[in-house]
Amino acid sequence: MTDRSDDFTPQLAAVRGIAAEVAAKHAADVDARSRFPSETLAALRAARLLSAPIPPALGGGGFDLRQHAEICATLAKACGSSAMVLAMHYVQLACIVRHGREQPYWREFLRECAERQYLLGSLTSENGTFGEMRASLCAVQRAPEGFVLEKDATTGSYCAQADAILVTARRDRTAPETDQVLVCVRRADARLEPTGTWDALGMRGTCSPGYRLHARGGAQQILSEPFADIAVQTMVPYSHVLWSSLWWGLAADALGRAGEYVRDLARRHLGSLPANAVPLAHAAAQLEALRHHWLGVAAEIDALAAAQGEDRRVLNTIEWALKLNHLKVAASEASARIVHEALQVTGLLGYKNDSPYSVGRQYRDVLSASLMISNGRLLAKNASMLLVCRER
Ligand SMILES: Cc1cc2nc3c(=O)[nH]c(=O)nc-3n(C[C@H](O)[C@H](O)[C@H](O)COP(=O)(O)OP(=O)(O)OC[C@H]3O[C@@H](n4cnc5c(N)ncnc54)[C@H](O)[C@@H]3O)c2cc1C
Repeated sequence: MTDRSDDFTPQLAAVRGIAAEVAAKHAADVDARSRFPSETLAALRAARLLSAPIPPALGGGGFDLRQHAEICATLAKACGSSAMVLAMHYVQLACIVRHGREQPYWREFLRECAERQYLLGSLTSENGTFGEMRASLCAVQRAPEGFVLEKDATTGSYCAQADAILVTARRDRTAPETDQVLVCVRRADARLEPTGTWDALGMRGTCSPGYRLHARGGAQQILSEPFADIAVQTMVPYSHVLWSSLWWGLAADALGRAGEYVRDLARRHLGSLPANAVPLAHAAAQLEALRHHWLGVAAEIDALAAAQGEDRRVLNTIEWALKLNHLKVAASEASARIVHEALQVTGLLGYKNDSPYSVGRQYRDVLSASLMISNGRLLAKNASMLLVCRER
């Protein structure tokens, strides 16, 4: 049985079509009204792209990480919020595929996800843990019929639209903050009370207010592997690669608009090189380097999966932790810098919201990159690791 789809050309063509014909058309309205990109998600569902991470034997696409990253990058060129929703969904599914699929309950759940094209959300943030994903205050409470879970999350993207949500919590009420499990809560078994609004600078279509979650479910809905392993072996690698690819897509979109602007100028002043063609070339070199960065890390992770199968312990090493944090920090900074340079190239026409060269939405969206798991927090962790890791 192959778990991997090798012929990716038709799927990528389908994503390009959805990006151009659906996501790009609705992106401005999604952004202006801070609303969920429902048209794009409906098109992705119709193309069966929500099940891309699920093995073909369970009804999914069996795509590898590089292929998921190409999809997110392509969609981000049209609508950053749509790409972020899809990326977060892929990360959640990958956690179940890689850490649960040997168990009958999860195999059945994955089959159901593929058949019904479920959308999965995530609640790792929590009031009182201050952005630290690897600590929880809330705890799973064992109940006669399974578990009960209550969580006060600071941020929860598209929870109102999700069919299930993966939630981090302490293993039980006696466990320390870092002894976490990952619980899959079905939307029908959850009550979500919004505790705030989502009127944000960018990524407005992700619809990410805070929520108080009240949920119950069966004991089998708690992934048996510790969240510590799921985080380092899947959640962090997938998040950092997929987010980087979509931030790159935002930068590519902005720079594409800058390129159009410069070509338009060149056509109007034949025979002379527009002054802003050189800054455009400078930004294009950075864009290319960034693409190679996320593609390279994705390819390494795919090669590991091919060589070592279910044994992913190498991802628990300091070297891999550093490599993944380097990607996240570098990609979030580079993508924002490139969008900023695109704005310098386009000038006022890029600054105006109603111009074809506008890079306003891309600029606001990309500013979330350094905050989404804060770069300061990651650099502090890297600084400690670099003290004990000389060989690079
Ligand atoms: C678009 C978007 C969608 C999101 N969707 C979800 C979702 O679906 N589910 C979910 O659970 N969460 C979601 N989040 C939240 C995310 O997971 C993080 O929890 C959040 O980005 C961290 O928020 P913070 O800035 O308040 O916290 P912090 O990490 O505490 O950062 C606050 C400030 O403190 C600084 N800082 C923190 N620690 C250190 C340190 N050790 N050294 C130096 N400086 C430090 C940071 O640089 C930053 O300036 C989303 C975030 C965004 C932007």
